[in-house]
Amino acid sequence: MEAVAPRCTVCKGNDEWRLQMRDCGHTVCAACGLSLLKQSVKLGKARVKCPKRKCTARIHPNDVDALLDEHNRVLLHHITAEDLIWLREENMKNVMTYALGGASRIRRCPNCHEMYGQRPGCNYVRCADSRCQTKFCWTCGKEQTSWQHFGNNEMCRVGWDDIWQGTWLFRCLLTTNPCCLICISPIVWLLFFICIPLYVWFSFPYYTGRRLLRWMREKSCNEKVAIAIIVLITPLFLAIGMVLALLSMFWVLGLWYAFAVLTLCKCIPIVNKAFDLLDLLQCFAGLVGLDEWRKIIRDSKEQRELMHIDKDHRNAERNERFPEPLGTHFALHSPLLKVSTC
Ligand SMILES: [Zn+2]
Ligand SMILES: [Zn+2]
Ligand SMILES: [Zn+2]
Ligand SMILES: [Zn+2]
Repeated sequence: MEAVAPRCTVCKGNDEWRLQMRDCGHTVCAACGLSLLKQSVKLGKARVKCPKRKCTARIHPNDVDALLDEHNRVLLHHITAEDLIWLREENMKNVMTYALGGASRIRRCPNCHEMYGQRPGCNYVRCADSRCQTKFCWTCGKEQTSWQHFGNNEMCRVGWDDIWQGTWLFRCLLTTNPCCLICISPIVWLLFFICIPLYVWFSFPYYTGRRLLRWMREKSCNEKVAIAIIVLITPLFLAIGMVLALLSMFWVLGLWYAFAVLTLCKCIPIVNKAFDLLDLLQCFAGLVGLDEWRKIIRDSKEQRELMHIDKDHRNAERNERFPEPLGTHFALHSPLLKVSTC
């Protein structure tokens, strides 16, 4: 004899399509299951409780998927396809929020609404969507285009990982050998005084022209007329670009001086030692109250020092085993060592 499937736990109905839940064995029909999911989605719940009053089981995610399957024609008698898709997306969002540690640990990109979980040390978030790439502040959730937001704001502080990511050029320069800095200085000079002003000069007409063209297209202007207008205006844009390029020279000059001072300082051994990146960053972290960051720098510095001591120790051992002529000379004058000379 064929086993009779249990009736729906909620409405006691005997519909043809009923879902028997894998964790507790209770049964729901399509209508009751969907209304249950709607309720829990509206309450922002990721885990749905079995509708049986005294049952404490949660509905297994696979059972939830079965209730949200848009290919199941029976379900579409109780809900429209659009509503079903909406329900599935909202449920997925709730599940993700739950998985990432709750709503307080979730932020959405202010532009494309992509969801992000919290990452320690990262408060200046860049949206991972390649078309969006919007930068926003984790603390206030607002779009931010520059670091200034963190300097002007008591509440929103930059994270230690942001500093690490943002100071890569600075880190590179500080750790580079002074001889290398001197060698690359002609390239840096070219980059600073030729490439940057040239870039400013020509990128201004290019980007402004592009924006103008897009704007005229939006206003449904004739394409040929739009291009003709832009060609006519280009000399003016070039002139403005040139002024901007000349103004950028002040900024470039500042950069060049900073580079030159750094190179000079690194050539003086004592000053070079003081230019320890980790010390500088640790100082900086202390000033802005990033204790976690300060601890990480201190630990990595300790590790680095231990590594150097270990290396020196190994070198010293090697030198003792294979005395150089200089070592022999030293040994001759030491009362403790007796090294035969021939
Ligand atoms: Zn039912
Ligand atoms: Zn149950
Ligand atoms: Zn985005
Ligand atoms: Zn903020």
